[in-house]
Amino acid sequence: MNFYKKYLEEIWEKKFRIQQVDKAIYQDLVEGFGEITTLSKTLREKMSKDLDFFRLKKINEKVSKDWTQKVLFETKEWFKVESVLMRHDNFRNTVCVSCQVWCAQWCTFCATWKLWLKRNLSSDEIIEQVLYFQRKLKKTEPWHKVTNIVYMGMWEPFHNYEEVLDSIKNIHDQKKMWLGARHITVSTSWVLPKIKEFMKEDLQLNLAISIHAGTDETRSKIMPVNKIYPLQDLIDTLEEYVKNTWRRIFYEYVMLKWVNDKESEFEALWKLLEWKLAHLNIIPYNSAPNDIYECSSRNTMYKFKEILKKYDVPATIRVSLWQDIDWACGQLAWKE
Ligand code: SAH
Repeated sequence: MNFYKKYLEEIWEKKFRIQQVDKAIYQDLVEGFGEITTLSKTLREKMSKDLDFFRLKKINEKVSKDWTQKVLFETKEWFKVESVLMRHDNFRNTVCVSCQVWCAQWCTFCATWKLWLKRNLSSDEIIEQVLYFQRKLKKTEPWHKVTNIVYMGMWEPFHNYEEVLDSIKNIHDQKKMWLGARHITVSTSWVLPKIKEFMKEDLQLNLAISIHAGTDETRSKIMPVNKIYPLQDLIDTLEEYVKNTWRRIFYEYVMLKWVNDKESEFEALWKLLEWKLAHLNIIPYNSAPNDIYECSSRNTMYKFKEILKKYDVPATIRVSLWQDIDWACGQLAWKE
């Protein structure tokens, strides 16, 4: 969080004061400056008077049958953004954060683009989404905490690179939330110059790529951004990424019946991915209102997995749950 840091610097407070506030916010999970008892009463009061502790206001929350939680927040200008907490076995709790107020990417199968891009979220606004769930878990299930973060909400993290990276550095910081970089995943589909910057960051973060097709023809139809950087350019950049980082890339492939689920499409994809350090997540399509698409059959998904296996590309078919609260990928479009 940067807002109080700037403030404390401006009023000439010593550096250790900032560290006290960091600890109180990230580790003690306070909900107001008044609660930071390591600060003098005068400073607590002054900060409470001068600064807003929260930038996002929770306006709705839904819990699905399997405990997935979706929260609708409102920014100061009343824009709505969503975050999701996903519960897994082994005490894993993943927060999916939003990093923009809506989207400018126009993937035809996704509900979020229909809302148009309004603005980027600040690093503080991104972190606040994570802290919200961290506080909630502490209160309701103190034996749990946030263990993973995915930048897969609304909507293109590499469109908002500086703020996203700043939020990651804060979350990763040992003196703040101290979440391992390997537990943080950033997902993108096209912003190649930023992928190149990302590979130079000295952090062991995970990169996920929304690929969704094996040929330019199909990819451009469902993801217009493919016309900016065609598949081969994307793959060349990712090859450079792997050479630089030695990290496996996670590819996402949403299954759209009769659109990207032909065998020729799968064959083209493995040709792009063979011998690469890749893992493919096969994602059942989640339907959105007024839909033109349908999810591929289970059979097709298994066939796809088998083809990839034959060529040594590991693949997982994702289970798509939680649709009862419209939380799922491509369904974040703030229905209240
Ligand atoms: N802009 C980034 C972050 C979005 S992440 C990116 O493109 O990677 C969200 C993931 O959900 C992406 O892989 C996206 O393509 C996928 N998705 C979007 N709509 C979906 C839907 N209706 N069903 C399943 N997955 C969807």
